[in-house]
Amino acid sequence: MSSNRIGVVGAGTMGQGIAQVLAASGCEVQLYDVADEQLERAKGGIGKGLDKLVAKERLSSEDRDSALKRLETTSKLEDLKECEIIIEAAPENEELKERLFRDLSQLGKEVILASNTSSLSLTQLAAVCDQPERVVGMHFFNPVPVLKLVEVIRAEQTSDATVKKIEQLAEKMGKTAVPIADSPGFAVNRLLVPMINEAAFLVQENAATPEAIDQAMKLGAAHPMGPLALADLIGLDVCLSIMEVLQQGFGDPKYRPCPLLKRMVAAGYLGRKSGRGFYHYE
Ligand code: NAD
Repeated sequence: MSSNRIGVVGAGTMGQGIAQVLAASGCEVQLYDVADEQLERAKGGIGKGLDKLVAKERLSSEDRDSALKRLETTSKLEDLKECEIIIEAAPENEELKERLFRDLSQLGKEVILASNTSSLSLTQLAAVCDQPERVVGMHFFNPVPVLKLVEVIRAEQTSDATVKKIEQLAEKMGKTAVPIADSPGFAVNRLLVPMINEAAFLVQENAATPEAIDQAMKLGAAHPMGPLALADLIGLDVCLSIMEVLQQGFGDPKYRPCPLLKRMVAAGYLGRKSGRGFYHYE
C-alpha cells in the first residue's frame, strides 16, 4: 500500500474535480468508474481544468504534465487495492453506495474509505463494512478546484486515526477541513438549503420577486450571489431532495419543502441545467 496513492470512485462532476486537485497536489491517483466513456470524458475534463490553471499562471506547464502523469483510470475495482485512501463520489443512491462500500471494504483491511455523499448517513454506510472505524465522510463542494471547504463527517464508528488522515489529506489538497457530526444535511446544506426554501416561500407569497430577493441578500447580507440564483445553479431538484432529507431526518415541520419548489421540479424547471428555474437561461 502506498501512502501517496489515492483512489477516487466515480468519474462524474465531483470525482473529476477531486481527482484533478489530488493529482495537482502530488498524489498518485487511481480514478475508477463503471463507464469507460465517463473515464475518457474525465481525463479530457481534468486536462482542461489544469490547462485553465496554467493559463491563469497558477500552475506551470511542467507541473500540469506531471499531474497528468500521476493520474490513472480504471474500470476494475481491484486496481484500487494499493490505495491508502479511497474517496467515493458515485451517484447519491443508498443501495448503490452500500454495495460499493461492502466491496471496497473487501479490498484490504486498512484502506480508509471516505464518501463524498451529500445526504446519506455515514454511520449506516460504515455498518455494512468490515473495520467500520475506517469509514468517514469527506464532503467536497462544487466546483472542487475552486471551493476550499471539506466537511469531515464522523460516523459513530469512525476512529480518531481515520479523521486525522482525512484532515491531513484535505490540507495537502489545499482545503480547509471542518469537523461535523453525522447528522442530516451536515452543516452547510442544513443552513443553506432552508434559506433557499424560505426564499421560494417569499416568491410563492408574492412578497418579493426573485430579482428583489437576490439583490436584498447580496446588498444586505453580503452574499456573493442571491439564494434563488444559487438555487438555479445547484439545481432545484437537488435543493428539493435535500429539504426532504432534512424533513425525514429530523421529523421537524420547519423543514417542509416549499410547495412552489415542488411544483417547479415537477414541471421540469430545474434551474440552469434545464434552461429555466427562478430565472430563464439561454
Ligand atoms: P455524477 O452523476 O456527475 O457522477 C457519478 C459518476 O459515478 C458517474 O460517472 C457514473 O458513471 C459513476 N458510477 C455509477 N455507478 C457507479 C458505481 N457502481 N461505481 C463507480 N462509479 C459509478 O454525480 P456527482 O454530481 O459527481 O455526485 C457524486 C457524489 O457527490 C454524490 O454522492 C453527490 O451527492 C455528491 N456531491 C455532489 C455535489 C454536486 O454539486 N454535484 C456536491 C457535493 C457532493
